[in-house]
Amino acid sequence: MDKEGRVLVEIDNLSKSYRRGDQTIPVLNGISLRIPERDFLALMGPSGSGKSTLLNLIAGLDRADSGLIRVAGVVITDLSEIELAHWRAQNVGFIFQFYNLIPVLTAFENVELPLLLTDLSKKERREHVKTALALVKLDDRMDHRPGQLSGGQQQRVAIARAVVTDPAILVADEPTGDLDRRSADDVLNLMERLTGDLGKTVIMVTHDPRAAERARTLKVLDKGILANASEAPLS
Ligand code: ADP
Ligand code: MG
Repeated sequence: MDKEGRVLVEIDNLSKSYRRGDQTIPVLNGISLRIPERDFLALMGPSGSGKSTLLNLIAGLDRADSGLIRVAGVVITDLSEIELAHWRAQNVGFIFQFYNLIPVLTAFENVELPLLLTDLSKKERREHVKTALALVKLDDRMDHRPGQLSGGQQQRVAIARAVVTDPAILVADEPTGDLDRRSADDVLNLMERLTGDLGKTVIMVTHDPRAAERARTLKVLDKGILANASEAPLS
């Protein structure tokens, strides 16, 4: 065990291609990667290089053609669709570029949503939601709808929603892509706290060099191949 802790995500020789008409387009070509527990990993690379595809595979949203992904001892590439859906609900929190909040629900209700799938009581749900909204410093905005919040505030609600089930892994696809610099910094500060204080592992796809700079580990994907940051250009 090194000081970064044990390996949480182990990816071995992962490949994925998409079919377009009668053409096969290779996207990931034998990716191998280890992500330690509590890492804050930034994944960069040119547009179309397969970053979102890789993130979605790690998050159990999509299936690989070949290769293996093991997360905390569970080989998720071997799970059935139903098992994978359960695994995802318990282990992964999602943060998107455009927040993906439900416009007709309040901040409280948006954060509560993933808890409706659990057997927590209404009172327990309320406590968890309040804790998550306090973490992102929006407990005074819980009755606001997304349209009544700034972009930065909406992304913080989305982070509260991602952590409310207490997942081990948070995946974020361009989480600062639509934010001004100050709101982006708030979001990055939160991500840092999630790995530092709360022991989460954050995997973040980003184009933003300022965001990548805040991460602990930087990996670059180019043409379906992974390189260390020092071995590949950033764009
Ligand atoms: P990135 O996030 O690095 O911009 P993506 O992982 O989204 O890249 O996409 C990688 C490649 O796979 C692109 O060429 C894209 O067009 C293709 N692709 C992504 N998703 C699909 C899909 N569902 N069907 C077909 N092709 C796809
Ligand atoms: Mg993408």
